[in-house]
Amino acid sequence: MKRRTFITLLAASSVAACARPVHPTIRGLTMGTSYVVELAAPMEDAARTRLAELIDAELAAINRAMSTYDPRSELSQFNGRQDLQWVPASQGLLEVLNSASLISTASQGAFDVTVGPLVDLWGFGPEYRPRRVPDDAVIERVRKSVGYQHLQADPSAGAIRKRDSRIQVDLCAIAKGYGVDRVAMILDRQGVHDYLVEIGGELRARGTTAAGRPWRVGIERPVEGRHVVGEIVALGNQGSATSGTTEDVVEQDGRHYSHIIDPKTARPVEHPAMAASVIADTTMEADAWATALIVLGPERGYSLAQARGLAAMLVTASGSTFDVRVTDAFRAHLLG
Ligand code: ADP
Ligand code: MG
Repeated sequence: MKRRTFITLLAASSVAACARPVHPTIRGLTMGTSYVVELAAPMEDAARTRLAELIDAELAAINRAMSTYDPRSELSQFNGRQDLQWVPASQGLLEVLNSASLISTASQGAFDVTVGPLVDLWGFGPEYRPRRVPDDAVIERVRKSVGYQHLQADPSAGAIRKRDSRIQVDLCAIAKGYGVDRVAMILDRQGVHDYLVEIGGELRARGTTAAGRPWRVGIERPVEGRHVVGEIVALGNQGSATSGTTEDVVEQDGRHYSHIIDPKTARPVEHPAMAASVIADTTMEADAWATALIVLGPERGYSLAQARGLAAMLVTASGSTFDVRVTDAFRAHLLG
């Protein structure tokens, strides 16, 4: 999934030369990437181990529900169905599909979790495919099985269904965000009040660092193959996510194809190297919107984010300079 992250966790103290981590951390692997939980307060080893077990169990449960890389997952089973029946779904899957549907409508279809068949066709899915540009005729055929309107989630009935048997759901653009929110919820329940959670670049902060300051993160520039930190943002009790067109690309005949698909064209987004960062109440929303803004592109994405009062930053690379657009709601988070 995530080939590189678009954030850099900054040392919370200015004593950057300190060899030991400033905060106690819990680390692990999940969703094809890594996670880090930074805690502001010291914690006994035994308590930290117990917390790590709870976090790993929760992340494993999310994978069992939502991974398209596990053929036995709840989502893979649902994808395999050929019928249009309502089927009972787990709480987490319902919650994510319901949010996905709202964000699809709000983003005018830019965010669409039914892009699964196109993700596979372009070689970004779980199955290995030789990465090459598909024929137009094949693209036209496959795009017929895409459309968020063909997927229904009814949280009150606890059920989901296909309205077109061909659709295939891919939650890679939202599941990491949801995972971050769930880890944050575990920490809250365990009485931990100052933390920063990160899964593959998607974040959620609460409280302050050990020094009593807001958590700060560096957002990387959309530069291929290198890590270049641009803006630095402060996070309150919020989530943030960044998506970009430079992190996982197919290259053919000198053209670069990103892993984010525009559902309207059935092709990878075509604008210049770009990154979109969103700060929201939940990381799940931030994650989905960051992907949606990439699809919409710098102009339309910025206009929609501004109109909706979203905290968003869109960075476009042109040569060695960067065009940075920051919505009013995002500006307050900028540190430098
Ligand atoms: P990453 O997973 O690399 O952090 P994103 O959150 O932007 O980046 O998710 C990109 C992934 O989401 C793609 O690899 C693909 O599986 C899926 N995807 C691609 N295009 C869309 C889209 N328009 N809407 C929803 N999901 C998408
Ligand atoms: Mg996303």
